[in-house]
Amino acid sequence: MLPRLVHALPFGLSQRITKLYFQALVWNQRGIHSEQSSQEFKAMDVKILPALQDNYMYLIVDKATKEAAIVDPVEPKTVLKAVDEYGVKLTTILTTHHHWDHAGGNEDLVKQHPGLEVYGGDDRITTLTKKAEHNTKLNVGKLNIQCLFTPCHTSGHICYYVTAPDDDNNSAVFTGDTLFLGGCGRFFEGTAEQMHKALIEILGQLPDSTKVFCGHEYSLQNLKFAAHVEPDNEEIKKKISWTQSMREKNKPTVPSTISEEKLYNPFMRVMEPSVMKHAKKNDAIETMRAIRLEKDNFRG
Ligand SMILES: [Zn+2]
Repeated sequence: MLPRLVHALPFGLSQRITKLYFQALVWNQRGIHSEQSSQEFKAMDVKILPALQDNYMYLIVDKATKEAAIVDPVEPKTVLKAVDEYGVKLTTILTTHHHWDHAGGNEDLVKQHPGLEVYGGDDRITTLTKKAEHNTKLNVGKLNIQCLFTPCHTSGHICYYVTAPDDDNNSAVFTGDTLFLGGCGRFFEGTAEQMHKALIEILGQLPDSTKVFCGHEYSLQNLKFAAHVEPDNEEIKKKISWTQSMREKNKPTVPSTISEEKLYNPFMRVMEPSVMKHAKKNDAIETMRAIRLEKDNFRG
């Protein structure tokens, strides 16, 4: 997790410090945080590619055409190895936000694999070829991708909603640092109103079966906070023990689904009486503000 102070520095300086910070973390660690795995849908495959200390990159493959997009390719070497191994044709980079641990690999990847379309919602992402706005649409092979503008963690954050043609039951959403399994991103450049809109009005309205692929493996820390907010919520207890068993085996806990998040994620439950009561508020947005502030200082 990146120290909060870094985000207050001038942009160029903060990018350089962030890069050094993550490189130091990577040098210190003995191995990758999770093993690579794969999530198969009817028309697409999502290859889960762990990176850095706790980041996830995702290779989205259209099965019909073998065309592929990569979400947040911070480690181009790992991406190109996977592209080669799976025999796919990489066409597109989908950038969720400008932070180095998400966008920091774009430049190298474009150099090593020229001709890629680079999507993102923030001019601080160098190498953009297509500026994404809310409801910008694109295709990767036959897959439809819809950009969802979800500012708050950063002011240009985009989530990517992927569906196959004629198949609403097999959708996926790539949520970067907006929605995590059991939690949400810090409000570095936005407000509780904006996160409420992102989580409840935008992501919360996607079909319940939508698989959620988030930007970091923060699930256990998030769920511990969720249990602190709602000590009597059985869904949280169940998810904690499942998460612990996955992490003991070095397996990723992604994806979850939108319907699961509504059962255990306190930030998607800000309208629930139990969560409001914990926050001592009677309004969903005030509850969002209060529990985010509490989570910022939570040491479970
Ligand atoms: Zn971030």
